[in-house]
Amino acid sequence: MYIQFITNFKVITPQGLNLGLVKVAQLIDEVTGMWKVDLIRKTFFPHDADLILGIPLSPRMPEDSLIWAWSKNGNFTVRSAYRVALKTRQKARSDNEGGECSNKGKIASLWELIWQLKCPNKIKHFLWRAFKNILPTNFCLASRKVTVDCSCGFCGGFESSGHALWDCVVAMDVWKEIGLNLPILKQPIKNFVDVVWALKEMDGVSDWELFAITAWMVWNNRNVFKHEGRCKDPKRIASEAKEYAMEVTDMPRSLSCGHTSIRSKWCPPKHGRFKVNVDGAVFSNQKCCGIGVVIRNEEGQIMGAMSRKLPLPLGTVEVEAVAMEEGINLARDLGLWEVEIESDAQVIVKAVTDADLGPSSIRKVVEGIKMGLGSFRHWSVSHIRRHSNNAAHIMARESRGTQECQIWVEDTPSVIANQIQLDVICEDSLS
Ligand SMILES: [Zn+2]
Repeated sequence: MYIQFITNFKVITPQGLNLGLVKVAQLIDEVTGMWKVDLIRKTFFPHDADLILGIPLSPRMPEDSLIWAWSKNGNFTVRSAYRVALKTRQKARSDNEGGECSNKGKIASLWELIWQLKCPNKIKHFLWRAFKNILPTNFCLASRKVTVDCSCGFCGGFESSGHALWDCVVAMDVWKEIGLNLPILKQPIKNFVDVVWALKEMDGVSDWELFAITAWMVWNNRNVFKHEGRCKDPKRIASEAKEYAMEVTDMPRSLSCGHTSIRSKWCPPKHGRFKVNVDGAVFSNQKCCGIGVVIRNEEGQIMGAMSRKLPLPLGTVEVEAVAMEEGINLARDLGLWEVEIESDAQVIVKAVTDADLGPSSIRKVVEGIKMGLGSFRHWSVSHIRRHSNNAAHIMARESRGTQECQIWVEDTPSVIANQIQLDVICEDSLS
């Protein structure tokens, strides 16, 4: 069985616990095409069970395919194999040296801090890599002799994890904007783990989820700048971090000043077509997620809507992919053959509209989506701002309090009645 995010891609549950289980297929219900949640929870350690259930399945039950676990898209390349070999050698070396962080109590307490965060696993995983100093900063790459230049692309400083995520001018501006009132630390700090340790000791962070998400966004911005030459304004990074934190933890956070536009810009579909808005929501403390679908005609009237809770701990990207597949299925079940699909998840839209199938964790679902789209007379898939996708967003969140799948046909669910009107009014006042 292949599981992402684990260093050796194997479950940690000892084999004695799953007697009689030989194949992964035995964990999948042949009729529904879904994971046998109870069996998995009974068989595996909770950590393994979450990882397994976090792999989205396509109800179409596609053929198995081979995936090279060390590249993002699952395809084998000599370059990625070389990197794996290099990494294995370095790991053996650093294990001999005892690693850079010898204080076990400190690491254990930071580990605990990370795993208690109410945010997606990818962010916890990122933090963990930052703490272990294994993020590919230029300093890290230079010390492994992958590159020779260890300077920061933004300011020319020495790019260690502490610099990239804390000391650098760009990072500092983002931390100033985020409104966490963080204490000032003596600079420079080489390792990010020391920044976090100092803040923790001073009790200087009121909102660790927002802190983690901000660090993650600072790192993403650094990567986009390094590989594509684009850099976001620190104000924008901060406001996106707050928005994302609000979305994943379901806690209100004030958006930065000047950011007041929550106006909807939903647009009705072209004549004779139907707009399918889809969205996913992660309820990390319940270890499950929800899907929302809203289908409207050119007058903005509801043709169909769905709010469905999935008892699976999917990640944000995975749940968005499943939401799109469900949206397509609902449109087809309603006999609508010309659809305009909208999602606020850019990764999914890109995976569906590009030749590349996107991250390997959603590959099977994306294949299913592409196959489903083939059955429409006309289809389009576009990326929209979250504010314009509010109706589907509300439907996804609404599933939290339910146990099943709710579907409305030519009837407006009361929770989105206001939003549906608002969308039409905003559209009228704009045109
Ligand atoms: Zn810098």
